[in-house]
Amino acid sequence: MIVNILGTDYTIKLVDSIDGRAGETDFYTKEILISMQDDVPPEYKTKNLRDMQKHVLRHELIHAFLFESGLDQNSNLCESWAINEEMVDWMAIQMPKIMNIYDSITNEVIIESRYIHDKRSRIIRK
Ligand SMILES: [Zn+2]
Repeated sequence: MIVNILGTDYTIKLVDSIDGRAGETDFYTKEILISMQDDVPPEYKTKNLRDMQKHVLRHELIHAFLFESGLDQNSNLCESWAINEEMVDWMAIQMPKIMNIYDSITNEVIIESRYIHDKRSRIIRK
């Protein structure tokens, strides 16, 4: 699957394993890999791989967005915010909640503006 991130196409690939890691974003091949974790021992593997992969996908998307924004270039130190794993995870975990709120607001505005448009149309027709 190909997605467009700030004007750049990235290919999303589901792979068997990535050296024990859950995901990887290659900023130069423009590939986001999500692991099936075939190389992870069962005792360390979650029973809910699907939700973990969704979390990892959001996490990798944030990395790609930061890179395509030009924001990762100032991250020379591990505590720099653009490569701070806690900050990236915060965004990955909070993004669906933010988007739900955003969607509920924007959908309401669309409905409201359509309603206003309909009202105006009716007024103009009269
Ligand atoms: Zn990361």
